[in-house]
Amino acid sequence: MAKADFYFAGELNFFLPLQRKNKRFSHYFEERAAIKDTIEALGIPHPEVDLILVNSEPVDFSYIVTDGDEIEVYPVSAAIQGQSSNKELGDRFILDVHLGKLANALRMLGFDTLYRNDYDDEELAKISAAQNRILLTRDKGLLMRSIVTRGYYVRETNPEGQVKEVLQRFNLFDQVSPFHRCIRCNGLLEPVSKEAIADQLLPKTRQAINEFHRCCECRQIYWKGSHYAGMQHFVQEVLNSRGERAQS
Ligand SMILES: [Zn+2]
Repeated sequence: MAKADFYFAGELNFFLPLQRKNKRFSHYFEERAAIKDTIEALGIPHPEVDLILVNSEPVDFSYIVTDGDEIEVYPVSAAIQGQSSNKELGDRFILDVHLGKLANALRMLGFDTLYRNDYDDEELAKISAAQNRILLTRDKGLLMRSIVTRGYYVRETNPEGQVKEVLQRFNLFDQVSPFHRCIRCNGLLEPVSKEAIADQLLPKTRQAINEFHRCCECRQIYWKGSHYAGMQHFVQEVLNSRGERAQS
């Protein structure tokens, strides 16, 4: 039987069982396979991987693992993400069906975030690839689909922790731009005069509020009502988490 030694660096260890974390271990195999498949068989989705060294030389995912190989695998670091992603276009996301609360929060903070509770895995992978969107999910199998090149396994389980984690991971704190995107549909908001929408407002709102925004896509109307203070508090707390070390 053939043997290759593996070492996974940094936060890739999140995906390994305890006895393999942060140490070199041997992987035995009979069939020759591409290194992408071997890494995924060991539990690590390929979009999490940035660099693979075999016997100290960089290789790509198509490399065929050979008997005696010494393999080191490195994660996509936040620093690399920050440099390589196109900051003019900004990072855009697509989220799997279980991350609805995270989707709302990312939209509230101004990030272009596709989310539907009826996307199936194939659609998610296809849209991510076609639109170069970062696929956020807690489903390793989904990230392992070959067409997915930009993706991230969200470690945190509670929505508030997830938002902070994603902002840290993708260096997004400078791009937070709250309250300019529709939480319901991801459309952009534009100012709208009170006269134009007066017939859609309850009398109390019409009396108390003068400034309104409307979604360009779904026409939802927004104003700084009773929920606004809570949302502002949330945004501030997220911004304050900058520099906290992300759990991995
Ligand atoms: Zn909308």
